Amino acid sequence: MADLSTALIHHPYQPPDGFEAVPPGVHKASTVLFPNVAALRARDWRHKSGYTYGLHGTPTTFVLEERIATLEGGRHCVLAPSGLAALTLVAMALLTSGDEVLIPDNAYGPNKAFAEGELKAWGIRAVYYDPMNPADLQRRLGPRSRLVWLEAPGSITLEFPDLPALVAVVKAHAAVHPQGLLTALDNTWGAGIAFSAFALGVDMSVQALTKYPSGGADVLMGSVVTQDEALHQRLLLTHMRLGLGVGANDVELVLRGLNTMAVRYSAQDTATRELAAWMQGLPAIEAVRHPALPGSPGHAHWQRDCTAAACLFSAIFRPEVPQARIDAFCDALQLFRLGYSWAGPMSLCAPYDMPAIRPSGWPHAGGLVRFSVGLESVDDLKADILQALQVL
Ligand SMILES: *Cc1c(COP(=O)(O)O)cnc(C)c1O
Repeated sequence: MADLSTALIHHPYQPPDGFEAVPPGVHKASTVLFPNVAALRARDWRHKSGYTYGLHGTPTTFVLEERIATLEGGRHCVLAPSGLAALTLVAMALLTSGDEVLIPDNAYGPNKAFAEGELKAWGIRAVYYDPMNPADLQRRLGPRSRLVWLEAPGSITLEFPDLPALVAVVKAHAAVHPQGLLTALDNTWGAGIAFSAFALGVDMSVQALTKYPSGGADVLMGSVVTQDEALHQRLLLTHMRLGLGVGANDVELVLRGLNTMAVRYSAQDTATRELAAWMQGLPAIEAVRHPALPGSPGHAHWQRDCTAAACLFSAIFRPEVPQARIDAFCDALQLFRLGYSWAGPMSLCAPYDMPAIRPSGWPHAGGLVRFSVGLESVDDLKADILQALQVL
């Protein structure tokens, strides 16, 4: 091979065999090479028995998919470039013009925004239900209902629904309307650790791997896990046609984060419960929402169905504290930084606009701040909240 440009590409050196290490290899590819035409024609990427193109999977993405499926107690997994992309993939794979999707009214905001934007433009109707009232879901299901979203707990307001009761309502309806009605749980909070989605009967479990599995606040990714092969293939084909690939460097970060996920979940759980209970006793606070706190909406459901809780709590200020003072409190915090997302190393907080987030009923007049507890010392976090409360 005379020319350097050719020699740099077709280089004869092969490293010795026998390199084994703890982390899985990071394989990068758009193109996957075939030894001959017969192999090109025969490869099957859909069952992970071969590789055809980077978008269809690499050894690295297959490893992460298998580990997320295991984490959730499911059988199949498809990865998407963000948690939101995983949510919208489910809707696009399952819904068509004329269908209805049911969404809990306290759901993750961008999932509702997708329903009001693209789904509505495509002739798919969103129907909102009160997740704390299975009879309300039952009333709203109709012959065109095809997908029911579940979320436990609600993203900001943290009510923990009776998931088995909601699933039972859906299954009873599906038995009478056999056109196909499926449930999908946004399981970012439970993360496969707090409870088993499939044991509770859901069809699909979606996670923002951005949160706990990554744990680093440095990557965006999502997953959809199923137990049913046919449902997985439906999702997989839509995923392929939409071109929702994920990059190997990002997959590497999530694989790395998975190693420490269980201990992070547990440490953040302990710290969050301590902070939430402590904050409930502060005079400026009317109520604190955290599923493990007695009195928090749905506490009994959480207690029955879960063994752990994630790193979120929401504090509702007394109605006499004006929003401008709550904003000043958030500005005065030094360790809790202002920002979206959660389950990373740094504690975060953000004020939210109530009651728009919970249209079917919000019992408080005061402002709400959601806290995400990171991995700092709990004593330092308490001191931070106390110093910031001085501005009130
Ligand atoms: C963050 C989050 C998502 C979306 O994840 P991204 O990776 O940020 O798109 C979806 N659902 C819940 C409950 C979340 O907290």
